[in-house]
Formats: sequence, structure tokens, C-alpha cells
Amino acid sequence: MKLKLHWQILIAMVLGAGTGAIFQSVYSGEPSGPIFSVFSSLGVVFIRLLRMIIVPLIFTSIVSGVSNIGEGKKLGRIGLKTMTYYIVTSMFAILVGLTLCNLLTPGVGVDIPVNKGFDPGQLKTPGSVMDILIRMIPVNPVHAASSGDMLGVIFFSIILGIGISRLKPEHGDYIKKFFNSFFELMMKVTEIIIKFAPIGVFGLMTAVVAKTGFDMIRAVGKYMFTIAAGLSIHLLITLPLIFFLLTRMNPVKHFKAMASALATAFSTSSSSATLPLTMRNVEKNVGVSNRISSFVLPLGATVNMDGTALYECAGVIFISQVMGLELTLIQQFVVVITALLASIGAAGIPSAGLVVIFIVTQAIGFKDADVAIIIGTMLAVDRPLDMFRTMINVFSDSIGTVVIAKSEGEKDFYKGGLFLEDPGDD
Ligand code: ASP
Repeated sequence: MKLKLHWQILIAMVLGAGTGAIFQSVYSGEPSGPIFSVFSSLGVVFIRLLRMIIVPLIFTSIVSGVSNIGEGKKLGRIGLKTMTYYIVTSMFAILVGLTLCNLLTPGVGVDIPVNKGFDPGQLKTPGSVMDILIRMIPVNPVHAASSGDMLGVIFFSIILGIGISRLKPEHGDYIKKFFNSFFELMMKVTEIIIKFAPIGVFGLMTAVVAKTGFDMIRAVGKYMFTIAAGLSIHLLITLPLIFFLLTRMNPVKHFKAMASALATAFSTSSSSATLPLTMRNVEKNVGVSNRISSFVLPLGATVNMDGTALYECAGVIFISQVMGLELTLIQQFVVVITALLASIGAAGIPSAGLVVIFIVTQAIGFKDADVAIIIGTMLAVDRPLDMFRTMINVFSDSIGTVVIAKSEGEKDFYKGGLFLEDPGDD
């Protein structure tokens, strides 16, 4: 009997973690040798395969999605709902993070261990919030695509989709068909790559566990616990509740349908890299139309990051507690707003959330130099938190897609022939 894909991936995660633990104990956090490099290369190959298709996948899915939605009014309505969902859920996440940090005070009295391998210069300070918004408009779409500037690619694709929907049928029909077929092609390629997921996930987990410095984790355990607790509340209570209230469907079904994407998000720490799986799960397992999913998901992978938003807020409160500073109510308000903007600006790649935390610390007037040493420690223990928050980011995108599809009159979700997790079976 052939195991379903999500089981294969989960087993691969456990085996990878076990193998990583062996390397960790043999090499105490500095693994090397040919066997280790073969194992970790499996993960690198998988990530490269996923990254290879992200740009064409986002491009074709948004162009076909937007041009199929058609009239401007409808697009505007779906766009507005999508944005509202993104902002409201991220706000919920931020408030959970804020509350937990104030209750558990993870940073008070912590003696921060210095991360010797860390050079603050390696974190590029991102520009201001306005810069991020302006940079969404690519001067050169081809450059945006080749440099992995997702917001630029998304912006260009939306404009192109709108243009196509306004063409007269003699031109429009042809080009619409072209992009629909191109998108189908990218989904087929995705299926081929997904077959490699269990092996790739095994390699990623092995490398992560083998390289984790457990001493650092012990020192800032309370900080990690606080963030993990906040993320768990969002994953297990807030989002399922929103899902149930807005769709009247059973959230457990949704967890099951998304299992392989969630496991991949966890192992890759990248919403963008997970996007191919997210799209496939939402379309094939949940049954959302391509019209909605191809618009909401790629946008969400870059813009909607509930886990990251929670992390930005909790991370900055932690930093202020370590520095022994009490934030005023106004400062906390600024943290909440900038955490939201920082999560929008963060790319869907590993550790992006930690880099943009400077946006928030600068907004409340912390000096980069004071913050840098604390960020160094946060970076040393970031991977497990990053894995967890990426999973929340992807889960929230998927819930949003179902909520919006339902509100647009779609039904018959999670029906017949579901969980054909094995790509290529359809
Ligand atoms: N790795 C996260 C993601 O791809 C972003 C982050 O670092 O918070 O969603």
C-alpha cells in the first residue's frame, strides 16, 4: 500500500530529526563529513527545485486568476476582502503576542549570551515602510523576476491580468487561454517536484537539527516558549475559530487537507518555497476554484504573515525587556502598527522576519547598536521559531482562501476523491 504524501513527509521529518540528532551528538553542532553533506544536499536540491518554479508560478497564477475574475468591480471586491482578511488576522496574532509578552515577561532579567559568530553588518537594515510600498512597483519587471522581488512580480502580474480582462475578445480570449494553459503547466511541474518532497524534507530536518546550538536555546528558553505559545494559540484557536465562524465547516478537515503544505512550510521555513504545495492542496484537497486561489495564495505568501506579525511584536517587546525599558502605551501602539507593516514587507524566505525587526525597533527609537547584540542571540535560536511561524503564515493564507471562496458563493469543499495527496493520481 502506498502511503499518502503527508504521511510520507511526516515520517521523513521524524527520520530527519533523528538523523540530525545523531550528527548533533557526534559533532556537537558543527557537523561535517561526506555523509552529512550528502544528506544536507538533499534539502538544498529540494529548495532549489521549489525556488525554480516560484516566479513563473506566481506570474502565471496571478495573471490567469486576475484575468479570469474579469470585471473591475468583482476584482475590487475580492481584493478588498482579501486585504481585510490579511489585516484582521495579523492584528489578532499581534495582540496575542503583545498580551503574552506582557504576561510572561520573557526578557526581564535575561542575561543575553553573545553569539560570537554574528556580525550585525550581515543583517541589511531594510528601508522605511514607505520605501517598501514604493518598491512594490518594479521599474523593470524582468529584473524583479530575476532578483526574486516577489512584490514587484505580483504588482506587475496584477496589472497585466487587469489589462487582459479589458481586451476585446478577439485578443483577450487567446491570451487568457495562453495564460490558463501556462499556469496548468506550472502546476504539472509542481506535481513532479512535490514527489521529491519527502526526501527533501528529510535532508532539511537532518541539517537543521544537526546544526542547532542547544546552549543558546536553553539561555533564552522563556522567550522561545512565549513565541511558541502565541503561535500555538493562533494556529489552534484563533484561526480555526475564524474559519468556523465564517464558513460553518469543520476546521479539522482543513488541517488534514493542508497537512503536506504545513509540514513543508515547517521544514523549509519559507512561505514562498511552500507556495506550490499550498496551491495544490487548496485546489485539489479543499476544492477551491483556481480563480480565487490563484489570486489569494500567491499574494498571501508574500503579504499575509500572521506568524511573522506576532513574532515582530513579541520580539521587540522582548528586546525592550532585556534592555530594561518599559514601553509606554503609545510605544506599544507603534509596535503593533509597525509589526503589521514589517510582516507585510518581510519576504517569504527563511529568517526574513528577524531582518525586518529593525523596522519596528527603529520606529520606537531604539538604536541599532544597542539592539544588535540581542538580535545576534535571537538569530542563533531563530530557526525553530522561523519554522513554526512559517507554518502559521501558510495556514492563515489557506484559511483565507477558503473563507473568501465561500463568501463568493463557492461550495462543495472537501468532497469526493479528496486527499489525493499523491501527485499525479488525478
Ligand atoms: N520565514 C517566514 C516565511 O517565509 C518569514 C519569517 O521569517 O518570518 O513565511
